[in-house]
Amino acid sequence: MFTESVRRRHDIIDSLRSDPQADVAIIGGGIYGISTLRELALAGVKAILAERGDYAGGSSASSSHLIHGGIRYLENGEVRLVKESLIERNRLLDNAPHYVKPLGTTIPIFSTFSGIVAAPLRLLTHKAFSTNERGAVLIKIGLVLYDLFGRKNGTLPAHEFHGRKKSLKHYPAMNRDVLYTAHYSDACIEQPERLAVELLADALATGDHVRSVNYVEAVSTTPEGELVLRDRLSDATLTLRPKVIVNASGPWVDLTNRALGRKSNYMGGTKGSHIVVDNPALHDACRGREVFFENNDGRIVLILPLLGKVLVGTTDLPIDNPGNASCTEEEIDYFIQLAGHVFPDIPIERSQIVYRYTGVRPLPAAGDLTPGVVSRDYRITIDQVGSTSMLSLVGGKWTTFRALGEHLGESALDLLGRTREHSTIDTPIGGGVDFPRTNTERSQWIEQHCGTLSAERMDQLLSRYGSTAASLAAEIGDSAETALKTLPGYTAQEVLWLVRREWVATLSDLTHRRTPLAFTGQLTSAARNELAKLVGTELGWSAQERRQQAAAAASGLSD
Ligand SMILES: Cc1cc2nc3c(=O)[nH]c(=O)nc-3n(C[C@H](O)[C@H](O)[C@H](O)COP(=O)(O)OP(=O)(O)OC[C@H]3O[C@@H](n4cnc5c(N)ncnc54)[C@H](O)[C@@H]3O)c2cc1C
Repeated sequence: MFTESVRRRHDIIDSLRSDPQADVAIIGGGIYGISTLRELALAGVKAILAERGDYAGGSSASSSHLIHGGIRYLENGEVRLVKESLIERNRLLDNAPHYVKPLGTTIPIFSTFSGIVAAPLRLLTHKAFSTNERGAVLIKIGLVLYDLFGRKNGTLPAHEFHGRKKSLKHYPAMNRDVLYTAHYSDACIEQPERLAVELLADALATGDHVRSVNYVEAVSTTPEGELVLRDRLSDATLTLRPKVIVNASGPWVDLTNRALGRKSNYMGGTKGSHIVVDNPALHDACRGREVFFENNDGRIVLILPLLGKVLVGTTDLPIDNPGNASCTEEEIDYFIQLAGHVFPDIPIERSQIVYRYTGVRPLPAAGDLTPGVVSRDYRITIDQVGSTSMLSLVGGKWTTFRALGEHLGESALDLLGRTREHSTIDTPIGGGVDFPRTNTERSQWIEQHCGTLSAERMDQLLSRYGSTAASLAAEIGDSAETALKTLPGYTAQEVLWLVRREWVATLSDLTHRRTPLAFTGQLTSAARNELAKLVGTELGWSAQERRQQAAAAASGLSD
């Protein structure tokens, strides 16, 4: 007998089999595939999305959690991208306030002028040559532009420059060689993978014309331009008949095109890793701000207090096969060394690393350019497979997913002979709908929706899921919650609510993407076993499968 979640997946697969026609088939359920699906859904287009792993489990799960203009990109001359990113950042602060939060950022500066000579040359030639630490003058120019585009009608503070004395007063643990610190406003996203899944839920809620399935891979096309999919959980094959294919498979765009019979060399991805450390002294030393530091050899490290831990990243290394990316011991040495340069008296011990992750940026192929200066902007290409048109997305960043989804959606509409008539610029996402902003609104909201739950528990759920927490509270109703033995603060009802609503098919979907349990280092071996039992009962796993799922969910952990 199928449980509720398993039946829902069977129903989608059956519906794809009985009705394989679609205006648009999207390959890839990263943030861009999902954003494009939402745009098409709102335009009433009959669309299908197929993701071969879990939603937002590719590049979209490997970000530095910044929703930012990208001050560095100004140095590469990418003014259009920075402007668009700042607009999108500000829209996300309004549309997804449950996960996207304002973030003060500080750049410690150890020289006055370096970088200023290299920058204009790079801007003109876009050629690779070594970078220098960005000097105070260059950073000042960048921040003036940043303020010009992104102050959100003055609601975000303008940038400030502090001399050595004030800098050390504010950051007593900082390297005493610092000459200045630059401070400016940006934003961070606490749970990017959750936002992606909530965006998907919004798209699917528009009606039956939109369908989506994870763990289904696009494997080939027929000579007639039909798209052949393989269900990776059952090994069954499905054939879709779309009018347009959108290849939103991120760093895998060329590999997907090749599988579909269309050779391309659009991509030149670079690998980036992160570590998450449990180091309270480092957390406190950041004073709640991101500290973004560039060494005098051009290497960059960001130190970001997040969800009670500290995220340290990232690298930018060329890689041929996105499937081979992993966080190496050398990268960890590098993070420890550079973070130690900023806060010399607060060493990061390897034993403090609770989680590590790696991903590949879906960057365009860029010849001999050094990875750090390759454009983060995006473009859309068009090819034919049989008689079907195929759009491929090259490049992009998390921050600009809405604008890019809009462009990609528009390009697909164009091929269908239609035009876009709506805009998502002001559309709240998932638990961002009616999200209470002030303390008073928050207390009122909690009182209104908590039912029999305590105010503290409702507050916790509101922080985790935004206003969607109301539906969890309603589902719990009058029944007493069963707290998990190994994870205080989580209950069986909450976990099953996630599994049933959010297309959980493996334990890692739950532990790494629907919740921040892996990221925050809460996923002990006992916790994995308890969750495997609970989720396994819902999804019908055998005892052996539960053991395998619990073992696989150790990925990235420091156990
Ligand atoms: C280290 C790093 C740090 C970053 N930091 C930031 C940041 O701080 N801020 C920011 O704005 N951006 C950041 N980015 C960029 C951002 O994460 C990506 O640009 C964005 O997530 C790309 O989304 P996507 O949907 O194009 O790709 P993906 O998320 O990779 O989605 C593509 C999906 O396609 C699926 N797929 C592949 N082949 C097939 C197939 N044949 N059939 C079906 N599905 C398939 C994959 O499984 C994958 O889930 C960072 C990226 C990296 C790697």
